[in-house]
Amino acid sequence: SIPVSIVAGIGRAAKDGMLIKGGEFLETSARITAVALDKTGTLTEGRPRLTDVVVLDAGSDRGEVLTWAARAEAGSEHPLARPILAAAASDGRSTPDLPERTEPVPGKGIAATADGRRVLVGNAALLDAYVVDTVDTVGAGQAAAGLAAAGRTPMIVAVDDRVLGVIAVADQVRPDAAGMVADLHAAGVSEVVMLTGDVQLVAEAIGRTTGVDEVHAGLLPEDKLDAVAALQRAGHVVAMVGDGVNDAPALATADIGVAMGAAGSAVAVETADIALMADDLHKLPEAVSLARRTVDNMR
Ligand code: ADP
Ligand code: MG
Repeated sequence: SIPVSIVAGIGRAAKDGMLIKGGEFLETSARITAVALDKTGTLTEGRPRLTDVVVLDAGSDRGEVLTWAARAEAGSEHPLARPILAAAASDGRSTPDLPERTEPVPGKGIAATADGRRVLVGNAALLDAYVVDTVDTVGAGQAAAGLAAAGRTPMIVAVDDRVLGVIAVADQVRPDAAGMVADLHAAGVSEVVMLTGDVQLVAEAIGRTTGVDEVHAGLLPEDKLDAVAALQRAGHVVAMVGDGVNDAPALATADIGVAMGAAGSAVAVETADIALMADDLHKLPEAVSLARRTVDNMR
């Protein structure tokens, strides 16, 4: 039977907006030594805004680059889709029709067929995955790197065999992110790492701001899982915090999967062992401390 103090601990956590889905998860939470954090939507607000439209094709212009990007992203639920659609709308463009075909490529971008054309919006890995050898990716790569160095997330826009340009969005780091990382360290978590599909330069900029111990960038969903498993092999008890479909494999592998309930995808909330109902990062170190107190009281 479950000890009374564990039941009480789960009850106290629930009142505080932390849904712990079983006594074993409270006990494991007391032993956490490493925390892996997703970036977009977890350390950042997850409400990026469009900051740049770089036109690379001589026959194209700002409006065309933005229009094709919006056509591909229409109907997409990725956090990067919203700022693109919002920017197109505020430029006075009508809401694009849903593309004829659309394929989200996790960690890379989106491949769509719109108006009979193949439209790619995403990172360099997306272009590699849909290699069109006539595409000049060198200029696009350089433009993307420049934007990333400024801490913005670049996305290359290609239509058929032409790279039209590169657009970028920037997301605000959550005001409580650095405090949460400090509180985790204070609660005895020795390794706090960021796992992101975003590019290295953007990840490093946000890593410095938040004070995480390590940054792993350019990750696909299965790479996030591998990063969690590597921490476990090094002897850590690992909690993973994520909000997205791309985080589900890592959430399932971690000793404790934590979903940001209010903003997170349904898949992330379902896969998680702990769901934080409020969009408040301080709940995470609170949950670790509460678990430690509860288990200590049982001894
Ligand atoms: P994170 O791990 O930080 O939550 P994702 O794995 O969701 O980020 O995305 C990683 C990268 O893949 C993004 O930074 C972007 O370059 C690209 N990407 C993913 N989905 C999209 C999309 N719908 N539109 C454009 N780019 C995308
Ligand atoms: Mg995310």
